[in-house]
Amino acid sequence: MLKVEVDRTQCQNFGQCVVEAPNVFRLNSRDEMEYTPDVEDAELDNVEAAVDVCPMQAISLALGR
Ligand code: SF4
Repeated sequence: MLKVEVDRTQCQNFGQCVVEAPNVFRLNSRDEMEYTPDVEDAELDNVEAAVDVCPMQAISLALGR
């Protein structure tokens, strides 16, 4: 499992992460980003892409067990 965390003080709800990893990140009806913190390993590439693309560098990723 992967552990995803978003620094809410940094996130500006731009939504680029949603494009890269739609199974992990989503925008709710108020256009606020929501995410799933515990993610299957199969999402690694997508989450890494989201980390890279986030303009606020708000996403961190840890390899869980
Ligand atoms: S890309 Fe970064 S700033 Fe944008 S919604 Fe995702 S976590 Fe927030």
